[in-house]
Amino acid sequence: MDHFLYRDGRLHAEDVDLATIAAEVGTPFYCYSAATLTRHYRLFDDALSFADHLVCFAVKALSNVAVLKLLGDLGAGMDVVSGGEYARARAAGVPGARIVFSGVGKTREEMARALEGGVRQFNVESAPELRALSEVATGLCLTAPVALRVNPDVDARTHEKISTGRKQDKFGIAIEDAPARYAEAAALPGIEVVGIDVHIGSQLIDLDPFEQAYRKVAELTVELRAQGHDIRRLDLGGGLGIPYQRDNAPPPLPADYARMVERTVGHLGCEIEIEPGRLVAGNSGVLVASVVYLKEAAERRWLILDAGMNDLIRPAMYGAHHDIVPLAEPPAGVDLTEHDVVGPVCESADTFARTRLLPPMGPGDLLAFRSAGAYAAVMASEYNSRPLVPEVLVRGDQFAVIRARPTIDEMLARDSIPEWL
Ligand SMILES: *Cc1c(COP(=O)(O)O)cnc(C)c1O
Repeated sequence: MDHFLYRDGRLHAEDVDLATIAAEVGTPFYCYSAATLTRHYRLFDDALSFADHLVCFAVKALSNVAVLKLLGDLGAGMDVVSGGEYARARAAGVPGARIVFSGVGKTREEMARALEGGVRQFNVESAPELRALSEVATGLCLTAPVALRVNPDVDARTHEKISTGRKQDKFGIAIEDAPARYAEAAALPGIEVVGIDVHIGSQLIDLDPFEQAYRKVAELTVELRAQGHDIRRLDLGGGLGIPYQRDNAPPPLPADYARMVERTVGHLGCEIEIEPGRLVAGNSGVLVASVVYLKEAAERRWLILDAGMNDLIRPAMYGAHHDIVPLAEPPAGVDLTEHDVVGPVCESADTFARTRLLPPMGPGDLLAFRSAGAYAAVMASEYNSRPLVPEVLVRGDQFAVIRARPTIDEMLARDSIPEWL
């Protein structure tokens, strides 16, 4: 459920007419609903109330500091994968004790910054990373709380590019090697083992792969405890999928997921962490764009927008589907015709949808891409020297620009011409 609904024939974000924002901010822009973000966070937080738990929002899904503050103020923790994301979480007022540091390639600088600033735990993905963290921590006379990310060799049955829990994926430590790595971790100075971490992929629409992975983690917990390790925390990762197409059967709900978590690991008495990104943010955002031209040929009709693949890359990168809806509600019974919806970028990959059924639209008409809150603005670039798309946050009848569109002059000012040229 989200808060982007037609009212009096105009698409609103909560109580704000999106066309009003378009008139003030210009298009394209991203718009997020505070009520939807709040609702989705609380669904997880409430569903996990059977255990001590922390819902750590995966910052990489939507990393605007205002959004992080909104979630942090609700009590959310943060899952970060870089020094930049760590800095964003801190700038949003989230204490280090609620920040989990994930990622396969943490540098020593990033480790040091998080250790000094405060961190809940590092999710360590390899033996060399573990040794580097030990050196950095002892160098600072600090102790690094650590969970090892295990790779359970489970097929998440999702898109190839976002599957992370199979043997051939670069993530985590093979689960059969985990006891040896835990023994090494326990012996290293500056390292304190606190738990186990697992994350098998994103946009999972079935609980079964999660269940397989969590059962393996439960077995490993028992085994490691028998070897003397204090496994008190399980980080179960993110990955629960969202409905991108209104007409499709919806994926499992956070409550279904939480019941499965309770069934698989609830008996262990561990504190539970989860790291949802897409489910919290995905349907909390839309991308609003204008039609620049309607181009017609014998067999095709192209709707050319002022938003491009640089603003929303998911269709080009993953072949992803986004529902596209006009801001002005089409009258009932209007004739829908097939359109290819494309951007202005000089690549054929800059195609959002092919043969999409839409009502008649022309230059200046506004439309919205739904489900554009996660892995959307964060992946935007200035390819083709198109200014980075701005972001707007709505709460009730208020809205604010939370990241402004740079001017062309500001973009140019970032380049410099060497004296010797
Ligand atoms: C990307 C990622 C997540 C979030 O995944 P979603 O599918 O957005 O819920 C959580 N944890 C880790 C380690 C990740 O890399």
